[in-house]
Amino acid sequence: GKTVERIAAGEVVERPASVVKELVENSLDADATRVSVAVESGGKDGIRVSDDGIGMTESEVRKAVQEHTTSKIRDIEDLEAGVTTLGFRGEALHAIGAVSRLTVETRPRGGGRGTKLRVEGGEVTTVEPTGCPEGTTIEVADLFFNVPARRKYLKQDGTEFAHINDLVTSYALANPDVAVSLEHDGRETFATTGQGDLQSAVLSVYGRDVAEGMVDVVRATDSDGDDETDDRREGPLDGVSGLVSHPETNRASREYVTTYVNGRYVRSATVRDAVVEAYGNQLAPDRYPFAVLDLSLPGDTVDVNVHPRKMEVRFADAEGVAEQVRTAVEDALLREGL
Ligand code: ADP
Ligand code: MG
Repeated sequence: GKTVERIAAGEVVERPASVVKELVENSLDADATRVSVAVESGGKDGIRVSDDGIGMTESEVRKAVQEHTTSKIRDIEDLEAGVTTLGFRGEALHAIGAVSRLTVETRPRGGGRGTKLRVEGGEVTTVEPTGCPEGTTIEVADLFFNVPARRKYLKQDGTEFAHINDLVTSYALANPDVAVSLEHDGRETFATTGQGDLQSAVLSVYGRDVAEGMVDVVRATDSDGDDETDDRREGPLDGVSGLVSHPETNRASREYVTTYVNGRYVRSATVRDAVVEAYGNQLAPDRYPFAVLDLSLPGDTVDVNVHPRKMEVRFADAEGVAEQVRTAVEDALLREGL
């Protein structure tokens, strides 16, 4: 019954940032060109994610909040390879609804009626027609109101918001063609235009002082070897690309290294440390670089599902990866005479 459900929900929903992650991924999956995130009190009191995606019909939204329902089983191979955005398919909305007060307002793209559906602690309490724009808005209020042990374990607003900010930032940088915005307690943290490239997304997220000096890291593999400037060393990576900050543009009190592996956002201390190392003694004490890096490597040399919720990654040859990242960043800085 309900207890089991709430325990299971804890696997999916660890903190406000995990709710944000699932909702933003759903919006991106729904072909949105705009995703707006607004949270209250570090997400503990409220989380709202709104998109202009394909939306849902009434019967689709009813289904969406049920257990193990997804419209996205692409193919069996995908599932077997674990190449899914979620560790468990079709569970997120259901799990979130089990531990909060959830409201979905949605209207299918290209016509059809709007529907408002409410779930409280796992029970669907309201389904009614509503007037709303095309797309979907999901509000999650009172996260863990019925799981006091979890609620108590949540950190201060600022800490919970920092997790959310990291996450939304990473989606904004990975999707420069989507207008992504973030608001905390009514104040806008950042908003990207959705019209640009990585450079303009970095500008929107981190500001001009960081964006201006960014150095392009291009170390894409050219397997036919016709690129004379390709002095790439042997290693596990097929390529490294992205942007790293100018050694002098470091207002950061910690590293802002956003890493994607084969297009997927991950957290990697290996990559982060390698980037910092590449700057050597060019970094003043307590000043850290900004970087956005996309690594590509053969799927069988990396495990991105070690812990899907925590976005951890394991490289078969972590030392090799570190070496290649460090070299690529060093070379990029050298090319700019830095
Ligand atoms: P999954 O994403 O794994 O399919 P979820 O529980 O996250 O599972 O979502 C269930 C279903 O609800 C999705 O498959 C999708 O059909 C629908 N859905 C959720 N969010 C949105 C959204 N923002 N726009 C359109 N459809 C959505
Ligand atoms: Mg989902």
